[in-house]
This record gives sequence, C-alpha cells and structure tokens, in this order.
Amino acid sequence: MAISEAEAKTARYRMVSRFANEVSTVIDVAGVKIGEGYFPVISGPCSVEGEEQVIAIAKSIKASGAKILRGGAFKPRTSPYDFQGMQAEGLELLSLAKRETGLPIVSEIMNQSQIELFHDVDIVQIGARNMQNFDLLKAVGGIKQPVLLKRGLANTIEEFLMSAEYIVASGNPNVILCERGIRTFESMTRNTLDLSAVILLKQMSHLPVIADPSHAAGIRSLVAPLAGAILAVGADGIMIETHNDPANALCDGAQSLDLEQFADLMKDMKKRAEFEGKVI
Ligand code: PEP
Ligand code: MN
Repeated sequence: MAISEAEAKTARYRMVSRFANEVSTVIDVAGVKIGEGYFPVISGPCSVEGEEQVIAIAKSIKASGAKILRGGAFKPRTSPYDFQGMQAEGLELLSLAKRETGLPIVSEIMNQSQIELFHDVDIVQIGARNMQNFDLLKAVGGIKQPVLLKRGLANTIEEFLMSAEYIVASGNPNVILCERGIRTFESMTRNTLDLSAVILLKQMSHLPVIADPSHAAGIRSLVAPLAGAILAVGADGIMIETHNDPANALCDGAQSLDLEQFADLMKDMKKRAEFEGKVI
C-alpha cells in the first residue's frame, strides 16, 4: 500500500506517531488518568532528603490537589561533589509516603541495573540527560510501569519522538512525554520552556504530553505563570517541584515552591482547568 509523504517522514517514529493511533492514549497510573481531558499535577521535592521531609511534602501536596508524588532518589548531578540522592533508601521513603497518602509515585532511574529497585515505583522517569541512553530506553521497554520520558536539554522534537519510539517498540506502550525546557542563549532563566514543542508533540503523537516549568525556569516566581501557560496550550499535565523548606533544599531550592505557594498555585490551576474543561 502506498503511504503518504508525511507518513513516510514519520516512519522512524511510526508507533508513537498520530498516524499509528488517531485516538489519544490515556495512561492510567493506579487510578490516576493522564491524557485526553485529564490533567494531573505531579509534585514533590527534587530529591528525597529524609522521612519527615517527604511525608510532610506528600501530605501537603495531596491536600492541595496533586495526584502524583515525585521525588528523586538517584540524582544526575552536574558536579560529582553535589548531593547524589538517597538512592535505594530514598525509594523506600517514597514507598512509605505512598502508603501514608495513597499517592502514586514517580522517580528517576539512571541505569538499567536499578530496575529491580523500582518495583514499587508507579511511573519510572528517564531524565533529560538520559533521553538518548538507548540501552536504558530499550530496558524500560520491558517493564510493566509507565515511563515518563523527559526531553533532552539539546534535543529536537524528532529525536524526542524517536526516543519514545525506542520504549514503545521495545514493548512498553505507556510513555508520557515531558517538555522540561531546552538550552538556549538566554542565561536569565535556567532553560527556555518550549511551548511550541508541547503543541507540536500533541499534534504529532498520540502519547500524553506534560511539561515541567520548574526545571524549565529555574526560578520560583516563573513557575505558576508558566503552569497556566502549559495548561492553556493543551498539555496533559504538569510536574512541579515543591519543598517544605526550599531555602535549605539539597537540590534545586531556587525553583522549588514552598507548600503554601503550591497550595496557591493549585487554587489558580483548578479555576483554569475548569475553564479549559480539564479534570485536574
Ligand atoms: C528531575 O526531574 O529531578 C530532573 C533531574 O529533571 P531533568 O532530567 O529534566 O533535568
Ligand atoms: Mn530538580
């Protein structure tokens, strides 16, 4: 059968392309839906730092309306001297927070040897720095949990789609794409949030697309306005870093909202979601 020029062009990411599936994929994470009208807010600390910290944050963000708890246990830090995360113990504390609050959890995996440790993690995250770690992409193609794939700092939209294709073609259809800012010449912000990418990804792929204004901006005061913009362009969710004491956070404090600021953001987002006809 002859295929159109557009179809031929997207052949390298054929399974995640809109041509493969005109109906948008909705991913169900322990009862929380992502995609097509469902706009869950994922929130939590950049890094799990201890039991008290993660439990306090989990309880507070849940009360504010977040649907999924995030927390890094294995941290890909730019300097080897920076806090590298609580590792396996961090994952155990996230599991504890999940049992205490009922919130599903998402955490970043750094290499395939860690897969076993992630058995209780509801969504396995692949960070920006690993977007083209093809062995890792193939490995998470074999797990049962959905994968949250973050766009690389300097990767094109097509490269992003092909990385998602690796996971889907390796057997895992449940991939959530996450735009988290790209590196540009601008130095006032940590990265530049590429809202066009969110729109294009939604047009080009049937997979759910979320965005992370915290890593995109790097500045706390930009997070809430960007969150509103992300909802307005048609994303399927957001991921926001929060901390009970941002000034003393071991990682990414400058972009983390405190728990009150997050509660205010959620009040605002609930109004906006109603206007957009989305379930937040
Ligand atoms: C994170 O979400 O904690 C993280 C490290 O993000 P990114 O991979 O987008 O830098
Ligand atoms: Mn972070």
